[in-house]
Amino acid sequence: MKRIALLSQRLANQIAAGEVVERPASVVKELLENCLDAGADRVEIDLELGGMRLIRIRDNGSGIDKDDLGLALSRHATSKIANLDDLENIASLGFRGEALASICSVSRLELVSRARDASDDTAWRVEAQGQEMVTAVSPAAHPQGTSVEVRDLFFNTPARKKFLRTEKTEFERIEDVVKRLALSRFDVSFLLRHNQRVAHHLQAAESLPEMQRRVALVCGSAFLENSLHVDVEAAGLRLWGWVSLPTFSRSQADLQYFYVNGRIIRDKLVSHAVKQAYQDVLFHGRHPAFVLYLELQPALVDVNVHPTKHEVRFRDSRLVHDFLFRALHRALADQRPQDRLSAETSAGRPPAESTAWAPGAPVFGSGPAVQNRMPLGVAEPGPVSSAWAATGTWDSRAPLSMTAQQLSALEALHKDDDVPPLGFAVAQLHGIYILAQNRQGLIIVDMHAAHERITYEHMKAAVQQQGIRAQPLLVPLSLAVSQAEADCAEQQSEALLALGLGIERVASEALVVRQVPSILAAADIEQLVRDVLADIREHGSSERIRQHQDELLATMACHASVRANRQLSIPEMNALLRDMERTERSGQCNHGRPTWVLQSLDQLDKLFLRGQ
Ligand code: ADP
Ligand code: MG
Repeated sequence: MKRIALLSQRLANQIAAGEVVERPASVVKELLENCLDAGADRVEIDLELGGMRLIRIRDNGSGIDKDDLGLALSRHATSKIANLDDLENIASLGFRGEALASICSVSRLELVSRARDASDDTAWRVEAQGQEMVTAVSPAAHPQGTSVEVRDLFFNTPARKKFLRTEKTEFERIEDVVKRLALSRFDVSFLLRHNQRVAHHLQAAESLPEMQRRVALVCGSAFLENSLHVDVEAAGLRLWGWVSLPTFSRSQADLQYFYVNGRIIRDKLVSHAVKQAYQDVLFHGRHPAFVLYLELQPALVDVNVHPTKHEVRFRDSRLVHDFLFRALHRALADQRPQDRLSAETSAGRPPAESTAWAPGAPVFGSGPAVQNRMPLGVAEPGPVSSAWAATGTWDSRAPLSMTAQQLSALEALHKDDDVPPLGFAVAQLHGIYILAQNRQGLIIVDMHAAHERITYEHMKAAVQQQGIRAQPLLVPLSLAVSQAEADCAEQQSEALLALGLGIERVASEALVVRQVPSILAAADIEQLVRDVLADIREHGSSERIRQHQDELLATMACHASVRANRQLSIPEMNALLRDMERTERSGQCNHGRPTWVLQSLDQLDKLFLRGQ
């Protein structure tokens, strides 16, 4: 056995560097955070060879005192906290005092700085080279602020150097870092040069339009055009930022920025809350995109749980989770056609810009035709009776709930400048689509998808308010099932009843359905019961059934909905349009596909090369 010995300071720093300094991008992250902590509002980043040969970062922040320069490079030396209380209330990005020490232990580092309130007018320089000790402080020329130059990263640790990738890859990682920080501080301008060429220049942004311009530059204009701006405050928490419409979902979780008090984090609790908020509206396996900022008292969140500070711990995680979920759920639910159509009137949408940083186009639909947001400025939807509104059910045998007279009265009501957002139906196409005309042009509705969403939302609301209304079947339906299905129906009869399904086991392999939700009276009950039983068997216990209630309701709603190839009359179609305007989340079906699109007259004109 070897004897125990204290590590030398240098070796200790190099070991610590393993945690903090993984690649050029991590150096850039640490140095930029220092600039922001120093109160800079302008930072310039110069890179050579993807940062592997050179990283130089210059800021106009507070600078470092001559006497502190040497200390800045020592381990556990920081100006940001002094005692445990400070640790509880961290407002700076750094506080561990190890970044500069780690970086200079694996590179050739030069630090030049001029402090804001320096007594003399000179700047001062220190250097450190891996193993070598810090050199003496010498005078230098530098405006107020700090420059840090990091050359030849890992020159003395070849094993780590081997893990570096190509210049392009390393540069892209640095871009990611700059993007993340640029979204955290709109008030700071960022200039990024690679091999002497300007790669990105982001001006400081103050107003909302300017901020949105930066978001568009960083995340792509498609994201901004397909997102909602949220700003919600409750219980001492504030959440603001931009979230994508469900129709702008992505196959990867690669466009997700979440900041807690200005610090970007990746956190399970946050992901979970966001995922839940989108649960109802996102196609399975797809990911939402968002840029979100959570602000709360620093004491309510612990940032000292991970060396790279990517994770945080909330003191009251339940509260934070619920707040995030509710705020986002609400924002997504509020999306009705009229909101979407009038979103553009709330000016301030920046001009679409193409950018090297823009990720791919939205996945569903192609380009601007999809749920285009055009100014319309209509009032609340008029007082319309609808085929669904009263009972929430579609009964094809019942007389139409809107007569032709009512319809023309309605049209008169909306005369000229008061056309409802989704307009008036003009025809049905192949039993699948409704064609309607509104002020801007042609609205095309996927009637099955739209109806499914409406039924689902009605059922959810009904369950919340007074439970599902059920009605007995005039002729009870006998069903031959497997023993396992019958067992399941028997064991879960209470849970089924809560969903409006009265099912009784009459033999080891036979069930009788006596009662169904009124809303589903016209559905194919046999298929419905089989599907619900299959769902329940998958979810297990009745506790789980409650958790999966929405999924069950969605399954049921699907059965109740207008199938393709159902012929609808014009009043029926209009009733569906009016219901869509009234219903939350009606822009997407239960699987996140769009339920309607707009082809504006402009777009149609273009198709026919009119006016060119
Ligand atoms: P930490 O950021 O955790 O305090 P660092 O090793 O990153 O640790 O920096 C050490 C100290 O050096 C900081 O606390 C700060 O006082 C000073 N410092 C580093 N970079 C800058 C800068 N760009 N401007 C002003 N001061 C700086
Ligand atoms: Mg730092």
